Amino acid sequence: ATPTALLVGTGRGAQLGLLIRGPEVLESTRRVDTIVLDKTGTVTTGEMTLLDVATAAGEDRDEVLRLAGALENASEHPVGRAISRAAAAAAERSSAELPGVTEFATKEGLGVRGLVAGRAVLVGRPRLLTGCSQPLPTDLAEIARTAEAAGRTAVAVSWDGRARGVLTIADAVRPTSAAAIRELRGLGLRPILLTGDNASVAATVAAEVGIAPEDVVAEVLPAEKTEVVRRLQAGNRVVAMVGDGVNDAAALAQADLGLVMGTGTDVAIEAGDLTLVRADLLAAVDAIRLARRTLVTIQ
Ligand code: ADP
Ligand code: MG
Repeated sequence: ATPTALLVGTGRGAQLGLLIRGPEVLESTRRVDTIVLDKTGTVTTGEMTLLDVATAAGEDRDEVLRLAGALENASEHPVGRAISRAAAAAAERSSAELPGVTEFATKEGLGVRGLVAGRAVLVGRPRLLTGCSQPLPTDLAEIARTAEAAGRTAVAVSWDGRARGVLTIADAVRPTSAAAIRELRGLGLRPILLTGDNASVAATVAAEVGIAPEDVVAEVLPAEKTEVVRRLQAGNRVVAMVGDGVNDAAALAQADLGLVMGTGTDVAIEAGDLTLVRADLLAAVDAIRLARRTLVTIQ
């Protein structure tokens, strides 16, 4: 491969909205045979909406939303943004302000915790609560299960050691994801859906975009995402990973080719080899076509 021909490839990439870290990236792009797709923010828009707030007996709905939203103000996660946006809107309607947060901490792939108005608040996967000594009461657990069976994300809210409510959140599949996955398959790539979200949500999204149930890996922690990529590589696959979040950064770096959505966080963009400016999986298809064409031209 001559450097000039490769530079032509990266120049063409820029026209297609592909920011390619260096000419050598096209080489790995060409060899890819497996494409691991993060769900939230990659296959889906990541523009989540809060659909419902369910409360434990004796709890006040507005208070559950207010404390959860105040805590999530400090989070960049799409789930957190949906919650803080809804809480801010509710606060504005009652001319109140969301309280501040101290001692904020993220438990990667699980949720967030911090002190809000003197209370130790936890918001995250029901498993986060289970791991913290108190299981969800059965009525809330049932609400979470029903939401997940309907393809939605359920997060639990607790403070001072007691579960206070369950929030139901919905995401939307990007309109071009199914077409892009079909084309990737047409190019000989095997698409795999990877997510920290629950298995029912993952299965619903997979069915919608045409990924086989055996190619879905759900409920993985961020560190395990890297492990999934490594395992595929150990099986002699050349792996591209497409992601957007902080928690995808390590897996993006581990992959033979890391593609990052243009809407992704800075940490993810730094870990990637190639940025999809359009934040559209069809741009990943363009990248692979371009890489193959560029190298064919110069042979
Ligand atoms: P994905 O792999 O789909 O991008 P993540 O690994 O980022 O998902 O998150 C996995 C799950 O952890 C989310 O579906 C959500 O249930 C929970 N979670 C992550 N961050 C937060 C947060 N800030 N607030 C509440 N829940 C969260
Ligand atoms: Mg994501």
